[in-house]
Amino acid sequence: MPVSVKIASELLLFLFISFGFATGFTLPSTTLKRQFATTMSTTLDMSESISKSEHILFDMPVSNNGARCRIILFKKRISNEQVEIVSPMTLGGLKSSEYLALSPNGLMPCLSIQKEHESGMKHISESDTIARYLLSEFSDTGPSFLPDNPRSNQIARWHDVYLTTIQGCLYKPSSRFPLGDYADRKSALNAFKKNLETIEGFMADGDGIYLCGSEVSLADATLFPTLVFANYMLPKFGYTPALPMKLSKYFNDVRAQDAVFAKVHDEIMDVLVNSWEETNHRWDSIWLAGLKDTDPATIFDKIIAGEIPASVVKEDDHILAFKDINPMAPAHILVIPKDRNGLTRINRATPEHTNILGRLLVAAGEIAKDETLGFGDGARIVINDGPDGGQEVMHLHLHVLGGKKLNGQLG
Ligand code: 5GP
Repeated sequence: MPVSVKIASELLLFLFISFGFATGFTLPSTTLKRQFATTMSTTLDMSESISKSEHILFDMPVSNNGARCRIILFKKRISNEQVEIVSPMTLGGLKSSEYLALSPNGLMPCLSIQKEHESGMKHISESDTIARYLLSEFSDTGPSFLPDNPRSNQIARWHDVYLTTIQGCLYKPSSRFPLGDYADRKSALNAFKKNLETIEGFMADGDGIYLCGSEVSLADATLFPTLVFANYMLPKFGYTPALPMKLSKYFNDVRAQDAVFAKVHDEIMDVLVNSWEETNHRWDSIWLAGLKDTDPATIFDKIIAGEIPASVVKEDDHILAFKDINPMAPAHILVIPKDRNGLTRINRATPEHTNILGRLLVAAGEIAKDETLGFGDGARIVINDGPDGGQEVMHLHLHVLGGKKLNGQLG
């Protein structure tokens, strides 16, 4: 290559490396840097150094979205030369810049296409898209997975829109909330369970072990791995039986009668049990699984249940506000969460409680400006915490005090 052309091409590559991320190019940075040190005549795609197969599926056994792709590969008996499954650890893990360059959200699975494809795509980093690519690319071998079947598509899409987005309620620490539309674990778990029932209603009636009847479909590949998670994890949160009846029968039958589903089940369970549960004790610190509210009920539970009267001034699904029986100021309202959910006192607050704590403060602020309750221009909002703080009732409550100019003493 003439020197000027080489310099120009290296300049081009430098610009490509510098601005690749900003412009949406998806090739790994260190690979690019390595190649920048050589010449542009070498290929830009790092994947070849990992595998010579036509495709690389970056995936690990515990990935339930990856498992849908693995089910397709196993059922279609796709060879290693066509698709090789490689751990993202080969690229330094999910958060490495190399992997993020392929899969911008750092999620599994991700498919690298190492041959020319008419779409021009080099990497696909979304599991439904990968699954549909595999079905179309390998349409002439093995089962079709019914790509045009509306029942299958509805189950698969319902799964991705309503279950995938909140399935973290089964295993994610609260620092990773909110989950989809849900700000706390309990409401996400309830929605998860309800959507399982909805999906059950989409199943075909009659014979056949699969969701759409006697033929395996994309719906099976999509839903089954999530059922492995749900079946194992929902009981940790007190949901037994984990799966609704028809789905439970499906889950057992398909494992008993289809070796691929049994294999994928065992792959996922191996990691869940041996790594997540027994080595990492993942659920020990997860609220509603390892951690639960076992403290005794208080007088406020009776007020919430309407068993003893209270002068209620404000109420919604989450909070209750009522006049203090022994007011310390002309206006004195207590604001409490209806579901104590471990909040015996404020020092028990965790990120799981962010939503309810916000709601309590908003309610307190609204009450504090309510002239009909006797408040003037301002109020004092107090939380007593524990014995030293003078707390008597072990159910978190905010005192909203006002109706006169309060003295400046807090302690
Ligand atoms: P703490 O001292 O725990 O911060 O506040 C508990 C508050 O609950 C006290 O101000 C007390 O007067 C109020 N309280 C206790 N029992 C009842 C009750 O049965 N009804 C009402 N409305 N307030 C109560």
